[in-house]
Amino acid sequence: MLVIDGSQGEGGGQVLRSALTLSVCTGQPFRIERIRASRSRPGLLRQHLTAVRAAQEVSGGKVEGDELGSASLTFTPGRVRGGEYVFKVGSAGSTTLVFQTVLLPLLRAERPSRLVLEGGTHNPLAPTFDFLERAFLPLLARMGAQVKVELERPGYAPAGGGRFTAEVTPVARWSSLELVERGARRAIRPHAVVSDLPGSIAVRELDVLCEALGLVRSEHTPEQQDGFGPGNVVWVEYESEALTEVFSAFGERHLRAEAVADRVVTQVRRYQKSDAPSGEHLADQLLLPLALGAGGVLRALPLSRHAETNIDVVRRFLPSVRVDVEREAPTSSRVTVSV
Ligand code: ATP
Repeated sequence: MLVIDGSQGEGGGQVLRSALTLSVCTGQPFRIERIRASRSRPGLLRQHLTAVRAAQEVSGGKVEGDELGSASLTFTPGRVRGGEYVFKVGSAGSTTLVFQTVLLPLLRAERPSRLVLEGGTHNPLAPTFDFLERAFLPLLARMGAQVKVELERPGYAPAGGGRFTAEVTPVARWSSLELVERGARRAIRPHAVVSDLPGSIAVRELDVLCEALGLVRSEHTPEQQDGFGPGNVVWVEYESEALTEVFSAFGERHLRAEAVADRVVTQVRRYQKSDAPSGEHLADQLLLPLALGAGGVLRALPLSRHAETNIDVVRRFLPSVRVDVEREAPTSSRVTVSV
């Protein structure tokens, strides 16, 4: 049986989630030890446990060690079945990360699936629903995957309570992805959203985004939501000919609204200094679809530890897949996945 060291590389929940996805898609059982050993609260948190149970449910698999706080587990996948699934994180933990864990398996099922996911939809350090919908899924569509997502209610930490649905149509034939050129810039769309917090926060954030990014302030409106618990997310949709990237940051207690917006501006500027199409987060998230699909070439900002760790996990489950990384310049790298 494959034994994965959960503390390797980046050493967070992604090692586990990637192993689950690869295990279900390849039919290989695995044991993972030292889960999230390098985090301050190691072991399985709710989001990770929900991902484990979701992978088990879609594949009719077996799992030992699936308890909150568990530092190791053994997972034996069965056969993937499409259908109706409801996955509740049971906290404000990220639903999008749970969704990504089972998405590739369900794209290989014999029939379509409809998923309901409940928990956090806009979490720091995870893909936001908007990132999923506007950046990640359109690229998967280019690889042949038809996935429709709909946000029913946003969920922010700590209240949670968000909900989105997804319709997943199995892929008949994967296409390789060539994402080498970004192409001309088409639009930059700024967003500042507050939920159950004063609207002035979003106004100040939008002021900073528009000023820094050279956008006409009167063309953009802050978004005020009510009834979902306190939350504040600032994001920029950066549309180029070849793709749309999404950069986001979250309001925090004792952090000025201007500083939240500045965090997004910094990410946009870093992207603008490079001509690579993929930003940091898309790069690590596209590795599994490329390796389990038809491969391809991706130019990205310099690879993160998340991406490097994901490459290592892919190599363990798919030794016949070649992943070559070439550092091209201080601002970009080229990843070639040959299947
Ligand atoms: P932990 O680090 O506590 O174990 P975790 O299980 O929530 O956390 P990670 O292992 O850190 O998660 O993986 C987080 C994933 O979320 C990565 O794929 C990363 O690219 C993605 N991500 C983080 N921040 C963003 C962002 N701003 N936009 C899009 N994706 C993001």
